[in-house]
Amino acid sequence: MNRIYLCLAHMSGNEQKFIQEAFDTNWVVPLGPNVNGFEQDLSDFLNSNDNEPNGIQHQVCALSSGTAAIHLGLILLDVKSGDEVICQSFTFAASANPVTYLGAQPVFVDSEPDTWNMDPKLLEEAIVDRISKTGKKPKAIVAVHLYGMPCKMNEILEISKKYDIPVLEDAAEAIGSKYNGAYCGTLGKLGVLSFNGNKMITTSGGGALICKTVEEKQKTTFFATQAREAYPYYQHEQIGYNYRMSNICAGIGRGQMSVLDDHIKHHQWVLTRYRELLADIPAIKVHLAPADGMSLPNYWLTTVTIEGFSIREVEGKKNLLKLIENMSERGIETRALWQPMHRQPVYRNAPSYINGVSDQLFDCGLCLPSGPWVKEEELQYISEALHRLIQD
Ligand SMILES: *Cc1c(COP(=O)(O)O)cnc(C)c1O
Repeated sequence: MNRIYLCLAHMSGNEQKFIQEAFDTNWVVPLGPNVNGFEQDLSDFLNSNDNEPNGIQHQVCALSSGTAAIHLGLILLDVKSGDEVICQSFTFAASANPVTYLGAQPVFVDSEPDTWNMDPKLLEEAIVDRISKTGKKPKAIVAVHLYGMPCKMNEILEISKKYDIPVLEDAAEAIGSKYNGAYCGTLGKLGVLSFNGNKMITTSGGGALICKTVEEKQKTTFFATQAREAYPYYQHEQIGYNYRMSNICAGIGRGQMSVLDDHIKHHQWVLTRYRELLADIPAIKVHLAPADGMSLPNYWLTTVTIEGFSIREVEGKKNLLKLIENMSERGIETRALWQPMHRQPVYRNAPSYINGVSDQLFDCGLCLPSGPWVKEEELQYISEALHRLIQD
């Protein structure tokens, strides 16, 4: 059996056609028909929401990465040097780093145990405390749908409204996840998608910003193409970036859109199979959507917590890193959960509002292979390995 990876890219076969077209028409540049086509496909997908409360037609700007999309999203929200931005602590560093690029200060908020995402109660406490400490409101809230699990958006949006602080949704891992019938990334003021190599779909590298108006999309495109003003010569009145998606990458994206629904269904099926296969290991708890029926995750990665294991050397507990190593020796890639931002040396001085939830998840949590190449045979093999290693 080949090595089993967490989420390996999987091509539909249609990608080559779009790339060939780009070569044939010499559109090997960061704009062109594939970029427009990919943006159209993405917005058609997002606008097929069965519950779009305001009848909004979402606009998508294709960019060079999800990180670039967060960066430009924060610029659209007018985040500037000296501002504070509240960010979920339990996430990948790319959610927070663009705050730092802008000279602003990330303020980290811990998770609640149901979704593993931003705890709305702690969010409000953090806002109130920041206002009292700095005399100034945080400029934005970066909420993440980690591992494709929608965060408690209703509660977070209520707080966003109460304090008039916009929400930037980091849906990098959550394309196709639904909350209250709407796609993740369309619920906040702005939303971010990623098409990096191991995400639900890939353009080799890429991302997108989901906007609510044509003006916002135009502004994003403007900043993504060096903020060049509309003059017959090069005139710049603001600092821009080189963040547009290339026509070649967008060609891969157009091909991938033809299998997006299949990929999502596959990831959801993988979760169901893990639940069945691992049901008789009492130490394993599979991370599932809350029972309130509000959310339908894409289950980008199946994640579990394992009682009796720790990522540190602790007496009386088995070592999680050793388990990862033993799985790897059997040809199976597993991975620890994201290490919370408030634990990262680079953010040790950032203000954080912590309740212990993400620390505990990081201590005993594991990501399991969930991508399109993981089939029944692989799942049974992974399950056998986990049975052996955990129950020994
Ligand atoms: C992947 C990811 C990003 C960044 O996307 P890139 O396309 O890799 O820059 C941001 N946030 C989260 C939660 C991610 O998983």
